Amino acid sequence: KHVPEANVIVQLQSKYETIDETKATKFKDLPLSSKTLKALAVNNYIEMTDIQRQSIGLALRGNDILGAAKTGSGKTLAFLIPVLEILYCKQWTRLDGLGALIITPTRELAYQIYETLRKVGQHHDISAGLIIGGKDLKFEKKRMDQCNIVICTPGRLLQHMDENPLFDCVNMQVLVLDEADRCLDMGFEKTMNSIIENLPPKRQTLLFSATQTKSVRDLARLSLKDPMYVSVHEHA
Ligand code: ADP
Ligand code: MG
Repeated sequence: KHVPEANVIVQLQSKYETIDETKATKFKDLPLSSKTLKALAVNNYIEMTDIQRQSIGLALRGNDILGAAKTGSGKTLAFLIPVLEILYCKQWTRLDGLGALIITPTRELAYQIYETLRKVGQHHDISAGLIIGGKDLKFEKKRMDQCNIVICTPGRLLQHMDENPLFDCVNMQVLVLDEADRCLDMGFEKTMNSIIENLPPKRQTLLFSATQTKSVRDLARLSLKDPMYVSVHEHA
């Protein structure tokens, strides 16, 4: 018998409160949509890494997150899975416009996130796009209003906010600041601050970085509301 999607969503959300990060070690232990679980399994993502285990449940419960974990620890899925689930639970459609914005320091990192999103989001009916410069601005401009998830570099995003009348973020639900420490090291502090000022205040923000520096804490103060701190240290 066909169960209406809305019922499935209510069921999943009712389990968020009881996620126990000490017991849930595999993705399939989490109350994730079957669309996401299927894609994770097919791509051989089975066991969660520490940062994923500690942050996905918190993010699903609606918290802002300040996450620190070294390079290679799996931060991409730690934010992409909540982004997909949040938009799925809101029954986001292509017509709803920009739902999530992911800011990362370099084009190369943006491509990597995009590729991972194509894998884990393959069964979701959601569009994604890259706004990273190097391409024709006109081409990016036209496509921008058709993207539900935009992955971007800071400079190019600010350019769109300033110059592109089709850039519309009023519906945006989730902001991800990826590799925040590197964004700041690369001199994007002012750009990031301007971007954040332009975004709707009623949103969820996930900030990830490899290190916790003073400038990361400053950015966190500006962008996060009552964040949950997640820090993963290696035990040799
Ligand atoms: P970070 O952003 O923390 O530097 P990434 O998200 O880029 O790390 O992940 C590093 C590598 O680990 C990638 O190749 C990714 O595919 C892989 N990976 C991430 N999470 C898992 C997982 N749960 N199981 C297996 N491989 C994973
Ligand atoms: Mg990363």
